[in-house]
Amino acid sequence: MRIVLFLATLLASQMVVAEKAAPLKADYVAKEVADGVFVIHGPKGLPSPENQGFMNNPGFVVTSAGVVVIDPGSSVQVGEMVLAQVRKHTDKPVVAVFNTHVHGDHWLGNQAVFEAFPKVKIYAHPKMMERVEQGAGIQWLEVMMDLTKGATAGTRVVSANTAVDDGRDIEMNGVIFRVLHDGKSHTDNDIMILLPQKKVVFLGDNAGYGRMLRLNDGSFLGNIHNLDRAVASGATVFVPGHGPTAGPEAATEYRDYLQAVYDGVKEFFEEDLSDFEIKPKLLPRLGKWQDWVDFDSLVGSHISLAYLEVEAAEF
Ligand SMILES: [Zn+2]
Repeated sequence: MRIVLFLATLLASQMVVAEKAAPLKADYVAKEVADGVFVIHGPKGLPSPENQGFMNNPGFVVTSAGVVVIDPGSSVQVGEMVLAQVRKHTDKPVVAVFNTHVHGDHWLGNQAVFEAFPKVKIYAHPKMMERVEQGAGIQWLEVMMDLTKGATAGTRVVSANTAVDDGRDIEMNGVIFRVLHDGKSHTDNDIMILLPQKKVVFLGDNAGYGRMLRLNDGSFLGNIHNLDRAVASGATVFVPGHGPTAGPEAATEYRDYLQAVYDGVKEFFEEDLSDFEIKPKLLPRLGKWQDWVDFDSLVGSHISLAYLEVEAAEF
């Protein structure tokens, strides 16, 4: 009897957990940024009840072998919106997904794609898969639920199932998707996706454009290096993790910001200033970026992180 009661309670609680929040309210449009390459540019703010957690730039590429999705977003609701956008442009199934890194706003939408296309290959860097296995996915579910006040309810962790690393080419009936990863960057598990024939590169969170990104899990010098690589890749269309798609400036403006912070911190570090003394001296040099979303809330942490990185490089 007790067991039956326990099971009934367990089932009831699972039903509560499984209750799914409403679909996305706002209308989003997929913009064709190159032939057959689409990007849905998400709102630039942090996850909130208003944006229902949608804040990244999901992309999809239509090939004759099927559709490839890049970063299907932060929740099952966002993933379903991405699939609805895909269906406006093609009847072909989604055959592959790339997850650019472990931050949940980019990949928790895997669930929607997997439920609609159970045979889908979901590619990510092996370190991302490792982190999800260690619990990063569950943590991100909680962060999203918290910040959106439940608007992502019903989302569960569907991790990548296929590891890819630097230099790997995945071909879809002649369309090449090249994986770029060279060490720690925005995190230790970022991949960029280059489509050499279409001259498009999906930067993931190696760059925000008009929006600052946290760098707590990353490296200034590594991020600068990876952006330099993207710029040298031959691409002409750059899709940042957040903010509008553009030419190389969508990579170089954030790269220049990272360089300005790092170089400034290094200069004042050598004058024996501490990070809180450095901030007021460095801020006037960062005027070009002061209107970017989240500049005020992140510049202090960027200076502290650069300080630690400069300090570590001295030893
Ligand atoms: Zn990120």
